[in-house]
Amino acid sequence: MNKALIWFRQDLRLADNPAVDAAVKECDTVLPVFIDETGGNSGLLQKESSASHVWLHHALLALDTKLQDKGSALLIRRGVALQCLSELVKEAGITHVYWNRRYDPAGISTDTAIKKALTETGCKVRSFNGSLLDEPWTVLKQDDTPYKVFTAFWKARLKRGIDTQLFPEPATLPAADKQPQGLSIEQLNYLPDIRWDQGMMEHWTVGEDAAQEKLADFLEQQGAEYKTLRDLPAQTGTSRLSPHLHFGEISPRRIYYQAEAYLAEHPGAETGIRCFLSEVGWREFAYSLLYHFPETVSEPLDQRFTGFEWRDDYASDLKRWQRGMTGFPIIDAGMRELWATGWMHNRVRMIVASLLTKNLLIHWREGEKWFHDTLLDADLASNTMGWQWVAGSGADAAPYFRIFNPVLQSEKFDPSGDYIRRWVPELKDFSNKQIHQPYQYVDKFKDYPAPMVDLKASRARALERFAAIKSDK
Ligand code: FAD
Repeated sequence: MNKALIWFRQDLRLADNPAVDAAVKECDTVLPVFIDETGGNSGLLQKESSASHVWLHHALLALDTKLQDKGSALLIRRGVALQCLSELVKEAGITHVYWNRRYDPAGISTDTAIKKALTETGCKVRSFNGSLLDEPWTVLKQDDTPYKVFTAFWKARLKRGIDTQLFPEPATLPAADKQPQGLSIEQLNYLPDIRWDQGMMEHWTVGEDAAQEKLADFLEQQGAEYKTLRDLPAQTGTSRLSPHLHFGEISPRRIYYQAEAYLAEHPGAETGIRCFLSEVGWREFAYSLLYHFPETVSEPLDQRFTGFEWRDDYASDLKRWQRGMTGFPIIDAGMRELWATGWMHNRVRMIVASLLTKNLLIHWREGEKWFHDTLLDADLASNTMGWQWVAGSGADAAPYFRIFNPVLQSEKFDPSGDYIRRWVPELKDFSNKQIHQPYQYVDKFKDYPAPMVDLKASRARALERFAAIKSDK
């Protein structure tokens, strides 16, 4: 009798899940397992990450409910993964172990060691790609080196063709007669003691079914206009699928498949949908970069930045930025949106990151760390790439002289000021014209700070430092 153990990690879904599909086809019984590795060498949550833990709590509940509908249940253990798995293999007489791969450096080394150790005990171990359109090592330049420019990467990726064959959701998941004991989801303590998470989670519905519904709604309602709407933070112009993608509640293959199906019936939506799919391509690019350049999680991809003189006396400035009290309305709106909802619009992520790394000259790692703690979609690959891109030290990076002016960006992308009014209510009475830089029109008011830095002078200082690096090569 073949007995499967499916180890769920960042693939918290049953549909289009290659590990689940293989386990059901090859084995008589299935034991779904989640291991809390936070104390160990985890690839899922590399370090304490409060917002992500909250999402994970709800995602595990949603997965467990689905499993129970299929005659199964999620078994939870805590500890070092190899030890937990070895114990379960013995306790439940497991013959086959299945999982979908992870691609962060710690996850790769943990999984490689586990595969070897379990195989040596006679267990069959099979791993799959469940979170990317293609394995990150497959798209290389003609000289077999990885791409560092997105457009060329994506062109080459599309040329390989996208496999949109979806794995079906299993009808049932037969459980073994005797189940090992585990922890409850509540015992993981992923929710904070002081329940600051409740307001944040009002903005989201977690789980695989919610993710599929969100995709369908997005394609129908915003897909055609995505290219024009995606830069306007006051609008619901993007899919907001990022936390679902991070935890694998939906696969990028399904996104591709459904987008193509939608296009077949709505050819007029071509421009918007292709633009949306290329953003999903940026996620693939981020994973390719993380796989080929794992050191970039802490070191600059562009070596010229190794000795860059970031400021070291920045604690109070960093705090003002984190709290959304910089005195630049668009920045403060973004930082407060992040705090309240666990998500920030992509355009605003770029603007706040530019202020931190360029006008304030604070190391991008500080921004990355804050995003990692507060974003529900905090993702090692995309976060690292995003921050290095804005700082100028990453792949396909913004040129050093590109310093976003938060006032001009605000006027251009939030012309009515509605986004600012939503998150910075102190400014709600300013006109559409004045709201982007209120201190031009008012000397002082009690509850909103003056700009923390002079944009012109700080831009000149940044240009000088960045130009010095540029001339290094
Ligand atoms: P949509 O516009 O609907 O795009 C669909 C999907 O494509 C997204 O869900 C996401 O998975 C992917 N995607 C879109 N844009 C990008 C991009 N620029 N890079 C990589 N993938 C992309 N994204 C994360 O998922 N996690 C992060 O931790 C993260 N950190 C970032 C940090 C900075 C400084 C910047 C500038 C960007 C960061 N991004 C990150 C990328 C991007 O901002 C988010 O993916 C996007 O805002 C998510 O919203 P959405 O789902 O509505 O995106």
